[in-house]
Amino acid sequence: MKRRPLFLQLFYTFMPMMVIGIVALIFFINSAIRDFYYLQTKDELLDRASLVSIILEQTTLNSTTAVQKLIKKLGMESNMRITLIDSNGLVIGDSEQEPINMDNHSSRPEVVEAKKDYVGSSQRFSKTLQENMMYLAIIHDHDKKSLIVRVSKSLAGLNDTIYDLQKRFILIGLFVGFLILLLSYYFSQKVTVPLQHIRKKTETFVNTLNLSNPLPNYKTKELSSLSQSLNKMAIEIDKRIRIIERERNDREFILSSMQAGIIALNKKLKILSINKIAIDYLDLNENSHLGYRAKKVIKNKRVIKLMKNVLAGADVNQEEIIIKKNKRRTFLVNGTQLKKQGVITGILVVLNDITLQKQLENIRQDFVANVSHELKTPITSILGYVELLKEDMINDSQRTDFLNRVLKQANRMNLIIDDLLRLSKIESQEEDSTIELQKTLLIQILEDAKDDLLDSASNHQNKINIYCDEGLFINADSQLLREAVSNLIENGIKYGHKGKEINLIGKNRNEKTEIHIDNHGDQIAPSQHKKIFQRFYRVDKSRDREAGGTGLGLSIVKHIAFVHNGEVSTTNMENGVTRFTISLPRV
Ligand code: ADP
Repeated sequence: MKRRPLFLQLFYTFMPMMVIGIVALIFFINSAIRDFYYLQTKDELLDRASLVSIILEQTTLNSTTAVQKLIKKLGMESNMRITLIDSNGLVIGDSEQEPINMDNHSSRPEVVEAKKDYVGSSQRFSKTLQENMMYLAIIHDHDKKSLIVRVSKSLAGLNDTIYDLQKRFILIGLFVGFLILLLSYYFSQKVTVPLQHIRKKTETFVNTLNLSNPLPNYKTKELSSLSQSLNKMAIEIDKRIRIIERERNDREFILSSMQAGIIALNKKLKILSINKIAIDYLDLNENSHLGYRAKKVIKNKRVIKLMKNVLAGADVNQEEIIIKKNKRRTFLVNGTQLKKQGVITGILVVLNDITLQKQLENIRQDFVANVSHELKTPITSILGYVELLKEDMINDSQRTDFLNRVLKQANRMNLIIDDLLRLSKIESQEEDSTIELQKTLLIQILEDAKDDLLDSASNHQNKINIYCDEGLFINADSQLLREAVSNLIENGIKYGHKGKEINLIGKNRNEKTEIHIDNHGDQIAPSQHKKIFQRFYRVDKSRDREAGGTGLGLSIVKHIAFVHNGEVSTTNMENGVTRFTISLPRV
């Protein structure tokens, strides 16, 4: 549709109205002037006719020549055509023509009318004078003869006046038309300029949704209420956008704070919403997921299969799925149908990382297997010796030997059980945080530990040295830390070389206080440095078991370090020194 500017619309509306108005006015004024002029002329003609009649009355009309002469004279003086007609219509005098040359006038309308009503008038084109004329006739009784005095006047002046007036009106019309054009432009500008302004502002608002410059208050009532309404609308839109944004942010915040991965998908399995954790769990591309079909972006086939099954209404909607791409983590993936008024609209998938639980479960299973294995070995040998002891064939020395072996295996079992109980106690204290640490002199703990192992050390010809500042304090449960250091000295004796020194060193280093237990001996391969702290782990199973260990000593040390908010590690030093270090927070 072709759109015109407002000012042209106004102009096109006003212009025909103005043209019609002016034409109507011209017609009206034309006829009013004509009527007025006719009336005036008629009155004037009546006066003249009456005057002529009075003059004639006082004159004796004895000859036709005298009549004609008088009429001519009167006509000239009154600047009018005067005709005298007898009752038969015969012209007996005329100011402009010779009566002989004139027709019978009895049928002239004004004559007919005058005979009837005393006065008669008419307007018509005079063939004699070749112009428009007004005629007025009255009855004039003269010497008992009834004559008719007719006067007439040209109407040419009237037409000139009207023509002149029409010209003026047309000029005025043109001027008014031009004025209307200007006024249309002025008024349209008055309306369109603020409207353009409003339009621009509204567009800016739509593009930027920024309300910092609201629309001003215009002088025109309608424009002002329009700008106010638009301002109100903008504020309302702004409010709603903020509410929507806040709700979206809240939702995203909740989703992102959740410790589970969450994905919402529609019926076509297109991703509608997904939180960061889910993106991480499924190892998705940071930018291409929203709006994508799940099977295009999620590589794990089992997850996709579960989604399809849930959509199809499968009973089982929970599975443990290992996602290899994500460091082989195990997830519990749960799918639920999303329904609106009973109709499925999509699905919701929740992923929980159960890798740690799985690992703990494995550790527990391994632990049970290890404990069983560790206890099974001595029990099997005890059973074997008891069987032999039942035999009659054995002699006394064999009996004593078997009984000693049974005792040794029973002691070993006892040791294992003691260590297990010890470990379990420390672990539960660690979980409950029931251990109270106190500011203690480190050297005291080292000396107590050294005392615990003096006999054992002298059996192996080991010398235990202590290098520690007298005034070095640590926060510790002295009994537990003494036990840990003793365990490490015991290992130093067990696995170290005979006749070598075992050094206990205590010192501050950066933010830590470190306790080193150094012994000379066969060093542990770096690949085993972490593993030796696992329960029942031994570097050389049969040798180390022979050495009398339970495989739990370093685990106990590790947990004691934990309850002191510290840690334990081992390093291979120069000159064949194996170093175990307990590092604790510095006081
Ligand atoms: P165990 O009670 O059998 O000694 P530990 O947990 O104390 O068990 O030690 C685990 C393993 O670490 C031992 O079997 C041994 O192989 C190794 N180990 C521990 N301490 C030392 C050390 N000072 N030198 C060499 N190997 C050691």
